[in-house]
Amino acid sequence: MSELLRIENIEVFYGPSQALFGVDLKMGEGEVVALMGRNGMGKTTTIRTLCRMSQQKRGDIFFAGHNIAKLPSHKVAQLGVGLVPEGRRCFPNLTVEENLVAAARGDVWTLEKVYALFPRLEERHVQLANTLSGGEQQMLAVGRALMTNPKLLVLDEATEGLAPVIRTEIWSAVKELKAAGQSILIVDKTLSELLPLVDKCVILERGRTAWTGTPDALTDELADRYLGI
Ligand code: ATP
Repeated sequence: MSELLRIENIEVFYGPSQALFGVDLKMGEGEVVALMGRNGMGKTTTIRTLCRMSQQKRGDIFFAGHNIAKLPSHKVAQLGVGLVPEGRRCFPNLTVEENLVAAARGDVWTLEKVYALFPRLEERHVQLANTLSGGEQQMLAVGRALMTNPKLLVLDEATEGLAPVIRTEIWSAVKELKAAGQSILIVDKTLSELLPLVDKCVILERGRTAWTGTPDALTDELADRYLGI
């Protein structure tokens, strides 16, 4: 399997306050990796740094053979990092379809494919994004990221705050994407749904990579120590 992403020992500060003290993460093409850890351990900061929305003071990030550590965020998006941020950002005053079309780049993912993945979006294609439920907005955010034809789909808090029926739809979409070979980096707190899906877990503890391994190797003792479960 060829390497897709390598984050090497990154350190990140917010002003004078250090948030990451040495995060390492590797993933190969077609892998699904869970980035885990209790609240405030650095998951979102790691994702923001990968997407160049935060700058690291030390360390490097390689994506698809490029050193992206100094690139602006739009270049990283062009290289194929498709982010679904925490809090899912869509254009509120555009329709569902306009949101999707505005994101389109490349030709693997089309409106038809996104609608096949999320039939609810097709049903609501003329609705303004700000009239959608939270779950539908999350589907739209995933659809928008897919329309960029990302080499890596990054989902931060994939199902947080969503109704159970919508969570089920998001999880089945993630399963479909994995089956289709999509590389995915995902943060979510629902371990019962997350663990069966992922190839690897990377656990952060106080801004450092504390443990990396397969979901099978994540014992109750480790889950208790690092995730408080
Ligand atoms: P959560 O699960 O709660 O989203 P997280 O694992 O994603 O947490 P981060 O949001 O990356 O963690 O936060 C890592 C550390 O950086 C925390 O100590 C947090 O308080 C701090 N931090 C995050 N964003 C900022 C910011 N904008 N300014 C200052 N400190 C911040």
